[in-house]
Amino acid sequence: MDRYLDRITRATEEAARQGFAAVAVPPSPDLFYLTGYAPMQTERPTLLVLRPGLDPVMFVPELERPLAAAAPAGRDMELLGWRDGIDVYAEAGRLLPPQGRVAVGDALWAAHLLGLQAEVPQVTFAPASPVIEQLRAVKDEDELAALARAGRAADETFRQICGRTFLGRREEEVAGDLAELLVRNGHDQAEFTIVASGPNAASPHHEPGGRTMLPRDAVVLDFGGTLGGYYSDTSRTVVIGEPPEGFETVYALVQEAQEAAFRAVRPGIQAQEVDRVARRIITDAGYGERFFHRTGHGIGLEVHEPPYLVEGNERTLEPGVTFSIEPGIYLDGAFGVRIEDIVVVTEAGADRLNRSTRELQVVD
Ligand code: ZN
Ligand code: ZN
Ligand code: ZN
Repeated sequence: MDRYLDRITRATEEAARQGFAAVAVPPSPDLFYLTGYAPMQTERPTLLVLRPGLDPVMFVPELERPLAAAAPAGRDMELLGWRDGIDVYAEAGRLLPPQGRVAVGDALWAAHLLGLQAEVPQVTFAPASPVIEQLRAVKDEDELAALARAGRAADETFRQICGRTFLGRREEEVAGDLAELLVRNGHDQAEFTIVASGPNAASPHHEPGGRTMLPRDAVVLDFGGTLGGYYSDTSRTVVIGEPPEGFETVYALVQEAQEAAFRAVRPGIQAQEVDRVARRIITDAGYGERFFHRTGHGIGLEVHEPPYLVEGNERTLEPGVTFSIEPGIYLDGAFGVRIEDIVVVTEAGADRLNRSTRELQVVD
């Protein structure tokens, strides 16, 4: 069966199972996942409407109908073009049931939802994430191959950046190198390149800037891009020459936590359990307060997507689910350490999609 029709069918069945009368999906990674169509969301609403028992329909601005028709799933579904000047929410509202529960994609603009809501006041709207999330979380063979290719390209990028000069250069220059290498190694696009040196490394999402790197700096590198629509995302922490005071203990701890969390992954484990394994090691060593973010996030068509590896997430992991494991310790004014790999749950446990060395690399 066609990949997109299969996904649409499964999403529609899941919606019915959860008691939804319809699902309305705006331009978003969800729409791309279901149809292969990736327009921008604009003031002109586009909506894929899935209704259990009826054929799917895509409501599109007339001037974008040719684009939608050319999309992989566009050929096989009814496209309802609407023209500028009509009462667009009244028109879209006709595609929805007059009452019951309707799931809307999380990314639907509030302005569009409010417009729809006014047309069908008896309908109860709810987020569509419980319907689509689980489908997207379990990757098929092609998706896993794309994620593995992206992971290998990111690994090669790390190997090559370790051969470049850090000392005396600005963070933003090394960030530029990372972006260039990500593309040279096969990514379609570099999406983010964190280079956080010295005390800046204590800020997990530091924006690389004009700081010139010094001897004994620890440098957190966190970078990724897209390849065939799928993301890479990896972090390593390197040192310029001799490590700073107290660094090696902290590095070893993060490395141990990352490894232990990886080893804990197996089908049936709860997402929060993986977080707990990493956190316990860091907390027991006295650094619990300095590990102030979740252990990881799902990855695929988005760099951050469900499932989140965080306390309170009881969702169980199953084969084909991909996510990051990225514990970190951040010491204000001194340094930070983060080590991040993308992993996939397998029947037997888990595989890493990043294979770069996790041993401490000393750079020039
Ligand atoms: Zn992050
Ligand atoms: Zn990252
Ligand atoms: Zn990440």
